[in-house]
Amino acid sequence: MNFIQTRGCEPEKPQSITFSQAILSPIASYGGLYVPETLPNLGEDFLNKHLNSSYKELAADVLAKFEIDIEQGVIDEALSLYDKFDDASNPVPVVKVKENLYVSELYHGPTRAFKDMALQPFGKILSSVAQKRNENYLILAATSGDTGPAALETFKNQKNIQVACMYPANGTSDVQRLQMVTEDADNLKVIGIEGNFDDAQAALKSLLVSPSFKATLEKKSISLSAANSVNFGRIIFQIIYHIHNYLELVRQDAIEIGEKVYLNVPSGNFGNVLGAFYAQDMGLPIEKLVISSNENNILTRLIQTGVYDIRESELKLTTSPAMDILKSSNVERVLFSLYGASRTRELMEDLDTNHIYTLTKEELAKLQEYFVADYCSDAEGKAYIQATFKNNGYLMDPHTATCFKSYETKCNPQIKSIVYSTAEWTKFSPVIANALTGEVNTEDIVALEAISKEASLEIPSMVKALFSKKIVHDSIIEKEDIEKEIVSFL
Ligand SMILES: *Cc1c(COP(=O)(O)O)cnc(C)c1O
Repeated sequence: MNFIQTRGCEPEKPQSITFSQAILSPIASYGGLYVPETLPNLGEDFLNKHLNSSYKELAADVLAKFEIDIEQGVIDEALSLYDKFDDASNPVPVVKVKENLYVSELYHGPTRAFKDMALQPFGKILSSVAQKRNENYLILAATSGDTGPAALETFKNQKNIQVACMYPANGTSDVQRLQMVTEDADNLKVIGIEGNFDDAQAALKSLLVSPSFKATLEKKSISLSAANSVNFGRIIFQIIYHIHNYLELVRQDAIEIGEKVYLNVPSGNFGNVLGAFYAQDMGLPIEKLVISSNENNILTRLIQTGVYDIRESELKLTTSPAMDILKSSNVERVLFSLYGASRTRELMEDLDTNHIYTLTKEELAKLQEYFVADYCSDAEGKAYIQATFKNNGYLMDPHTATCFKSYETKCNPQIKSIVYSTAEWTKFSPVIANALTGEVNTEDIVALEAISKEASLEIPSMVKALFSKKIVHDSIIEKEDIEKEIVSFL
């Protein structure tokens, strides 16, 4: 299968490219993104066929339907990384929390957040494509705390790939920071930026437009690639678990094949729910895709009003930082699916120039056929964490908690819902300890112990080990010095 572009094609570019080309250079004509030319149809036969498949068997068959230009051996090796998850036979447990409400736990990988679901196999595939072409790539990442650890973990010691990861020195949890600064490999560079996530992102953007940086890369024959969810190489792995979750409900006798369910996704850059949107178009029976936001409610406003307006918006720092976002990249792929390339280009140019775009009434109606949305404040999220723990014995993180609001306001409780849990409690322990025991401003190590005791949960060994591991990346610098730091690493 080939890949086409969301904003149409510049005259000098090919109309369509292969999967491996699209993952090496994920930015398309006019600043757009690559999308599959068509989606395979999976229908009920496919679901029936995979009722008793393992996660890896299902994944291999979904990928086969996409007919990507990656050798089977490489795909198998990539999928075998799911064996490192807590339970190799079931990397994504689906847990019943109460009547008609299920949670899909996407965080059982090495860095305890859902980013591992895609980045683990993606890292293997990207490195193998780069090796095969005998090319060297630099991945630049700015992280608010989950992408960074997952990218470092997957690319560690991978050939033909180097990673430079920037994180806000004052903006992550202790666990997230330690996951990055203790990651020891010659091809990894981790840099703390003085400031918040905006400053880390600004540092990355200034690098991308720096002529001297470009010249350095050319001289060293290094190309740039990206590991965030604009890369379709991540999205493809984020289609699979939605199908797995549906099959899990069938296996648990909660639904029959063909019955529609809600998929409720805590959303930021829209990569997770985009995978669900594609799964629906491929034939998965879905009632509605539910978008859950925090107080940075740009996605909720889009789905409810058809207007994407960031003219007056200022980013708020919330207790669900992986969803603190104003420009949500993957919405563009939905616009393309629903309205086509020329309209997508028009809308995205409106956003770039005027910081707003407005859908027509008909366009909004089409969007609302798929999506509903609501947002949840930090205080509401804290109350959901408390209540769900107290009433249902289920402990969740602040990102997952945002879904419980939209579940109440937007979903018919007679229909089964799958809520996506995107991070383990260990990653945001101070917020959760505050909800459970009232502790304020604790360090992670204190919060972890408090939660462990209160909820009778073990702290996973890889999290515990972080606190005694050697710190190998100790540079914290001003964003002006970033280029010098990375060039000396290269
Ligand atoms: C990345 C992330 C999200 C947001 O996912 P998107 O695909 O960007 O919408 C939500 N929760 C957690 C914990 C994350 O790490």
